[in-house]
This record gives sequence, C-alpha cells and structure tokens, in this order.
Amino acid sequence: MNCYIHHEKHSVGICRSCGRGLCPDCVVEVDDSLSCAGRCEEQVRTMSLIVKRDSQHMASSDTILRSTGVFTASVGAIMTIFGIAGYLMTKSFMLMFIPFVGLVFLIHGINRLRKGAIYSAALKADERGGSNRTKGENL
Ligand SMILES: [Zn+2]
Ligand SMILES: [Zn+2]
Repeated sequence: MNCYIHHEKHSVGICRSCGRGLCPDCVVEVDDSLSCAGRCEEQVRTMSLIVKRDSQHMASSDTILRSTGVFTASVGAIMTIFGIAGYLMTKSFMLMFIPFVGLVFLIHGINRLRKGAIYSAALKADERGGSNRTKGENL
C-alpha cells in the first residue's frame, strides 16, 4: 500500500480510524495507535479511550469472577466435606444430598475461576500490544 497523499511513497502504517496507508510524513502516533496527521487524531484518541474503558470493564469482571468463584468453590468444598462427614457419622440418607449440592457449588466456582483466568489471559494479551483487536475477539 502507498501513502494516500503521497502516492509515490510506501506507507509505513495504516490509520486506525480511516484505514488509509500513511507514509512517515503523514503518520502520527496517538495512544499507541497510528493516525493520519491532523485528520483522524481525534477519532483515534476516542477509539483508544473506548478500548481502554473496555479492558477496565474486563478487569473488573475478571476480579468479580475470581472472588465469586473462590467464594462459591469454598462453600461447595465445605458443604461437601461436612456433608460426607455428617453422612458417615449419622448414616442418614437425608445428608446424602448435601455433598451433591456442595459438588455442584464447587464445580460452579471452579468454572468461574477458569473464566476469570481466561479473562485475565485475554487482558494480558491485550496489554502485550494487540491494540488493533476488536471487541468481538474478547473471549
Ligand atoms: Zn485517518
Ligand atoms: Zn504521505
């Protein structure tokens, strides 16, 4: 691709907003993204603001997933252990269902933790410089 203003020059980058090819004279860097000098800078700045807000949102849902995951898994583990212990002590079949419910909680909690891990992995990939990734690629 060649520069959209200087057709004889090879482009060194593509504007994040309008997608035109830019030569070294026409390119500016705005928040780690490339933009047409004096043309799309404002749009590119707005776009990276939205992306930043997006990853902040992801960071918070990552934390929520982790904390609720730990809580749910802990409740599940406690229910499973006490349920089995209670069943062994009393041999009451009424107590059989408690470990089952506990296991469901445990699996649910671990799933949340796994989702949280996927979120933070996606976040880290984002920080590593995938600034051109679109929203649809997140998970
Ligand atoms: Zn542009
Ligand atoms: Zn140019």
